[in-house]
Amino acid sequence: MIQKGSLFIAVVVVLILLTTGCSAKDSSKPENGKKAGISDMQAENPASERLQEMLTDYPPVIQESIMSDTDGFLALVKKALELPDEIFVMADKKHALGEDFIPEDLVPLTDYSALTLSRKNLKLRMIVVPDLLRMVADAQKEGLTLVVSSTYRSYDYQKMLFEREVKLYGLETAERESARPGTSQHQLGVTIDFGSITDEYANTPPGKWLLQNGWKYGFSLSYPKGYEWLTGYRPEVWHYRYITPVGTELQRRYFNDVQQYLLMFINENRNRLREILDLF
Ligand SMILES: [Zn+2]
Repeated sequence: MIQKGSLFIAVVVVLILLTTGCSAKDSSKPENGKKAGISDMQAENPASERLQEMLTDYPPVIQESIMSDTDGFLALVKKALELPDEIFVMADKKHALGEDFIPEDLVPLTDYSALTLSRKNLKLRMIVVPDLLRMVADAQKEGLTLVVSSTYRSYDYQKMLFEREVKLYGLETAERESARPGTSQHQLGVTIDFGSITDEYANTPPGKWLLQNGWKYGFSLSYPKGYEWLTGYRPEVWHYRYITPVGTELQRRYFNDVQQYLLMFINENRNRLREILDLF
C-alpha cells in the first residue's frame, strides 16, 4: 500500500512537473513573441553601436555627423556599396595598385568635341564621361571653360614620371610632388588634373567654380589644404577624382568633406557595413 501510495504521489508529482513545464513553455510563447519585437528594435541599436566602433579612430566631427543621422548615413552607404568596388578603391602611398590594374573602359577624350583638352592623347573611363560632360556644359553656361589637362596614366608611364622626377629633384621632393608607380589615382582612369596644374589655378574663375560645384557631378578634390599628413600629398587644387555623386554626397555630409576619410572608412569596413545593411 505504502508503495502504491508513493507511486501515486510520484505520478502526481511528475504530472504536476509536466504541467508546470508545459505551462511554463506556453507562457514563454507570448514572451518569445515580445522578444522578437524587442530584437527588431535592438537590430537598430547594434547597427549604431557597430558604427560607433568603426568610427573610433575618426575625428569627432565625423563621428558626430554620422551618429546623429545613422539612418540617412546607412541609406547613402547602401547606394555607395551598390557601385563597382573600384569607385572607392584606395590608391595612395600605403595602398598601391598593381601593375596589372588597367581599366577596361578607357575612352579617348578626343571623341567628345564638347571637351577642351590640353593634349590629344587623354583617356578616361567611360563611367566618368556623362557627369564630366554635364559639368563642363554647366560651367560653360557661366562662361567658364574647364580645361582637361591630365587624365589616365598607366603604371609604366607613372614609373617613368617618378624616375624622371627623382633624377631632377632627388627622392625626397619626388616623393612629395609626384607618385611612385601604383600609388597615383591617375592609374584609376577616373582622375583629372584641370587647367594649369599649378597652385594659381585655385584663384582662377574655373578653379573656384570647380571647388564650389565639382561635387554636384561626383568630382572630389583629393588633396585638400591641411591634410598632407593624412593623404601623403601636398594640396593639389587641380586634382579631382570622380567618385560619383553618391560618393561626393557621403564625403560632404558625413566625412567633413575629406575624400581620404571616406575612402578609408569604406575600405576598412566594407564587409561589416554589408552585414549591417542586410539587417534592414
Ligand atoms: Zn593629378
